[in-house]
Amino acid sequence: MEIKEYAKKLAEKSGVVQDVMDKKETVWINERLLPFELIDGLCQLVVSDEDIKDAEDRLERFAPYIRMCFPETEETGGLIESPLREIEKMRKALAKGEPESEIPGRLFLKMDSHLAIAGSVKARGGIYEVLKHAETLAMKEGKLSVNDDYRKLADLKDFFGEYTMQVGSTGNLGLSIGIMSAFLGFKVKVHMSSDAKQWKKDMLRSKGVEVIEYEDDYSKAVAEGRKNSSLDPKSYFVDDEYSVDLFLGYAVSAKRVDKQLKEMDIKVDKDNPLIVYIPAGVGGAPGGVAYGLKRLYGDNVHIFFTEPVMCPSLLVGYASQKYELANVKDFGLSGQTHADGLACASPSGFVTRIDNNIVSGDFTCEDRRLYDYMRMLVRTENIRVEPSGCASFIGPKMLLNHENLRKYLEEKGLTKEVLKRSVQICWATGGGLVPEEIWKEYLATELF
Ligand SMILES: *Cc1c(COP(=O)(O)O)cnc(C)c1O
Repeated sequence: MEIKEYAKKLAEKSGVVQDVMDKKETVWINERLLPFELIDGLCQLVVSDEDIKDAEDRLERFAPYIRMCFPETEETGGLIESPLREIEKMRKALAKGEPESEIPGRLFLKMDSHLAIAGSVKARGGIYEVLKHAETLAMKEGKLSVNDDYRKLADLKDFFGEYTMQVGSTGNLGLSIGIMSAFLGFKVKVHMSSDAKQWKKDMLRSKGVEVIEYEDDYSKAVAEGRKNSSLDPKSYFVDDEYSVDLFLGYAVSAKRVDKQLKEMDIKVDKDNPLIVYIPAGVGGAPGGVAYGLKRLYGDNVHIFFTEPVMCPSLLVGYASQKYELANVKDFGLSGQTHADGLACASPSGFVTRIDNNIVSGDFTCEDRRLYDYMRMLVRTENIRVEPSGCASFIGPKMLLNHENLRKYLEEKGLTKEVLKRSVQICWATGGGLVPEEIWKEYLATELF
């Protein structure tokens, strides 16, 4: 693997980038993080509060349809939402053996691993974009209006059948787009990278989805899908690298979390900060969630992405400020990881830009830990989260134990006293659709 000149130069200046090239776990702190009020106005030019509200309203309109078609959403009234659960036993177990073995404050798990329909965080952005496109088409043809009962969409399968949805994916986005689109009646083509798991392809095919496989990595699958779709006027491409609609679907999660925190009487303010860790692949899901949370909580929320040591694409995109032009391979990394959902060698150009001054930092995590955390979570809380989603646990484990964080904690006033009043959330991004025999494999996997 040839290391590019820009990567070498960056490593000379930055110990963190040198760690990345040495394939060592590290923590990158974003020097470009700005006080939220300084960037609020500019950000809203791109994605405004009204845009997020519009996405929320749209999901409300679809709720009766979703509730009718997917009985598992009965409890949430047709909203696709996951529990925010305190994981006290995991909190106690997680930092054992570290110098600071006590994780301060309260630790929660945002269980997007258990989201209805798609079983991963992709049920937010992916399904939102499919629904929005379906709504747009139906309205354009006079088959639907805003005040209709959206349950009538169930009668439009033949209409949607004239259109095609396409997406490039490492797996879970394909599942989300594929399942929802096929259900509505669309023809669907999912372009899968070589990292995609066989069972995900099988599951999609069983639902009538056309799965096209590539020997190459994720960026290639996306590029091919984009090209293929552009040749067909009746085809729509969900573009994980640039889509604002995907981003909006993810951003809506913030208000849902806010409601859940309020229901538990948990406040978020300067004295009671919120710290959130989200596994990142191309950046769409964590980027949208981060943006939504930041809009609500400003400087009182601290957001860290977590990525595999072999594929820290957001980290290199930010650190180099080359955005989507950065690639982990330029740093001598293979990009190959057991965290299949995070195996994107280049980050989203949209997310790296819009969140450039929003994200606090990025933790990298060795693959072997993913399986250890997965087993620990099963043992302590009896919750199953797929390996990619377990990358979030490196955050609370290392918060007080990694020297790269010391200055950040000090500057942001995150003293031990304050942290005792903090809430930390690990975002569990997937696992709900993993078949039993694959769980057996996962639970038995040990890497050294
Ligand atoms: C997709 C995915 C992520 C990350 O989302 P990106 O939008 O690719 O950054 C994290 N975990 C799981 C399980 C995923 O499927």
